[in-house]
Amino acid sequence: MSNQNPVFIPGPTNIPDQLRHAMNAQTSDHRAPDFVELLSPVLEDLKRVFKTETGQAITFPSSGTGGWEAAITNTLSPGDKVLVARYGMFSHRWIDLCQRHYLDVEIIDCEWGTGAPASRFGERLADDRAHEIKAVLVTHNETATGVRSDIGAVRRAMDASSHPAMLYVDCVSSLASMDFRMDDWGVDLAVSGSQKGFMLMTGMAIIGVSQKAIAASQTAKCPRCFFDFRDMVGANQKGGFPYTPPLQLFYGLRESLSMLFEEGLDNVFARHFRIAQGVREAVNAWGLQLCAKTPDLYSDTVSAIYVPEGFNSDALVNHAFEAYKVSYGVGLGEMAGKAFRIGHLGMLTDVMALSGIATIEMAMKDQGFPVELGTGVVAAQEFYRGTAVASNRRAA
Ligand SMILES: *Cc1c(COP(=O)(O)O)cnc(C)c1O
Repeated sequence: MSNQNPVFIPGPTNIPDQLRHAMNAQTSDHRAPDFVELLSPVLEDLKRVFKTETGQAITFPSSGTGGWEAAITNTLSPGDKVLVARYGMFSHRWIDLCQRHYLDVEIIDCEWGTGAPASRFGERLADDRAHEIKAVLVTHNETATGVRSDIGAVRRAMDASSHPAMLYVDCVSSLASMDFRMDDWGVDLAVSGSQKGFMLMTGMAIIGVSQKAIAASQTAKCPRCFFDFRDMVGANQKGGFPYTPPLQLFYGLRESLSMLFEEGLDNVFARHFRIAQGVREAVNAWGLQLCAKTPDLYSDTVSAIYVPEGFNSDALVNHAFEAYKVSYGVGLGEMAGKAFRIGHLGMLTDVMALSGIATIEMAMKDQGFPVELGTGVVAAQEFYRGTAVASNRRAA
């Protein structure tokens, strides 16, 4: 029965039964006149999640990585200069993707565990009087280190230097779990996917696109075909798709959006904060350190946790799976062997979080970590007890 255990990886996330049922649907014809009744409201409702009124939502059958590729190729031309900060495995992989598309990538390397360096972006943009930099790329939630960056601060730094570069944000592991404000933050391309905050199976890239980015897609020269915004937007406007849509994922997304709106986005964010804070209380009780350097950087969707000197985080994660059939995130890139990750996004309750905390505690004890059984669990229990009534009252 081990397949009944929740996963504590930061995506793909646990799929609520309601969404699994919604995706368990027979084929229907996407060229039939009723497909538009499914597609159009979903695209419209996605704008509420991105918090954009002026932008639009574009989806592709893909994972989040395809969303990166679509954002880049539709709006930039080979040789264009882009400014990116690297502070984890996902920002690193986005840089790699840009380089393979022949963009001129200027990298600001930051210590892993820190976030987007708004002031350094600002200084660099102020120096760029010829406006050679076409885009600034930021990973909102660096899933490798459990760091959430301040996108509003990046926007303010861009505005302070009156630089016209577009702002691209990877919000794959933050959208629909932590506050995201496309219009307020002046985001031109917001890239996400179906398998994290939306709690669905993997298979759909979900992108918020500003009108400025739509205009750029008319002249951008990077080659693209499958991911061409023009084909997708043109077909969507007529209620169709340029090729076969992942129909069952659209059924799932319809239901996922309903669940999110029913709970209320603010309540969804508050739930993520609360679950995450319980995990952080446990980490503190274990005497372990988060990769995220300061509390303002703490992610509410994933915690990356350093193991003590002399221990291996990947061995811990493997042991937890072998002994208890529960999955946690391994250390990625520079964090390999040094940090494990507890994913706490999507469908998660106190009860589930406590099971994840209790199980990794057992695994740490098995591996000889200097951690006492029950310490993290008690810390989380106290936090969840102390905050449960208020949050339940709000839900009721
Ligand atoms: C999961 C994730 C991605 C995309 O990964 P896919 O496996 O292609 O869906 C991109 N960026 C971040 C920050 C992520 O967490």
